[in-house]
Amino acid sequence: MKNLDSRRTFIKKLSTGVGVAAFAPFLSSFFIPNVQKKLGIALVGLGGYSRGQLAPALLETQNCYLAGIVTGTPSKIPDWQARYNIPDKNCYNYENFDTIASNPDIDIVYVVLPPSMHKEYTIRAAKAGKHVICEKPMAISVEECEEMIAACKKAKRMLSIGYRLHFEPHNQEMMRLGQQQIYGKPQHIDSFNGFRYGGDPNAWRLKKAYGGGPLMDMGVYSIQGMRYTTGQEPLYVTAKEEKSGNPLFSEVEETINWEFEFPGGLKATGATSFTKSGGYLKVQAEKGVFELQPAFSYRGIKGKTPAGEMNFPSVYQQALQMDDFAQCVLQNKPSRVPGEMGLKDIKVVEAIFRSVKSGKREKV
Ligand code: NAD
Repeated sequence: MKNLDSRRTFIKKLSTGVGVAAFAPFLSSFFIPNVQKKLGIALVGLGGYSRGQLAPALLETQNCYLAGIVTGTPSKIPDWQARYNIPDKNCYNYENFDTIASNPDIDIVYVVLPPSMHKEYTIRAAKAGKHVICEKPMAISVEECEEMIAACKKAKRMLSIGYRLHFEPHNQEMMRLGQQQIYGKPQHIDSFNGFRYGGDPNAWRLKKAYGGGPLMDMGVYSIQGMRYTTGQEPLYVTAKEEKSGNPLFSEVEETINWEFEFPGGLKATGATSFTKSGGYLKVQAEKGVFELQPAFSYRGIKGKTPAGEMNFPSVYQQALQMDDFAQCVLQNKPSRVPGEMGLKDIKVVEAIFRSVKSGKREKV
């Protein structure tokens, strides 16, 4: 911890002009060009994903670090402060969150709350002058996504969505093979993503109003996978729900199956569930099959093509994702996973729900 503290203090000092001036006589000329500010990230919502993935990843990042926290549970604060060396002045609650505007330590706010709260905290963060990363699913309606994008544009702040798989080499390879039609035209795509829900029966994941349910939680990965392997948007969807009557899923769907029709007639079948586990993405192309299984996990992703097994290293997806966004902010270049991408997925999600309700093929 001590080494970490002193390294951070040193980096922060370097990031200010005073620090650089003080050390300048001792810095060799080849070191100076690498000096750049590490951006400070504040995590909003200290639940499972922040605690288990994002905060540990922020110990590995090169361009950003965990500078602050925003929580409605004061009892969590001391442990987070001790673990990540966060000063009192960088700890916020939901009421005083807007005062983060005057905190120069925080450059980026990362919203890691239930989906129904994404819009409010993204807009408040943008109004406070911070760049924003918002977790998937972006929000609970297309309208909300549009408001978030407009608010960030108005505040001249960048907005990106936590789509970590765009930084993962097996998934990047699926994008290349599909979009460049390396094995010819894709003829059929199939994808599933789900898990057997065994958690708290009162959690937001089981509440419709919070943006719960497997389609919003897990199905978005299959929707993303289909969109990024084709580089195209589905035109129509036909979807159906399967329910066993389990009271756990009285508010949200249990399993949804869908079929997309892409331009040119390509069809893609997808499914998501809170009662079946697994995750794969499979493309049947003119010259063979390329696929990932598991496709969407944090680790252990494996892939096959007609040329054999994919041979890519396992990477720290969240660290790469956050470092890339920090670079985008530092260099003022667009994120490869912007708010507009999250909006497109929610458009598709809404069309799937419309089709489940109408029992008909719906336009996306
Ligand atoms: P979680 O339930 O573990 O944590 C949610 C946090 O929100 C908790 O700290 C909770 O206290 C806080 N919260 C504040 N107000 C709340 C309210 N009214 N009701 C419920 N919680 C409230 O959830 P999580 O798994 O950390 O998910 C958070 C977000 O991260 C979701 O959008 C989820 O989809 C996303 N997520 C993304 C990935 C990924 O791989 N990209 C993985 C897991 C979760």
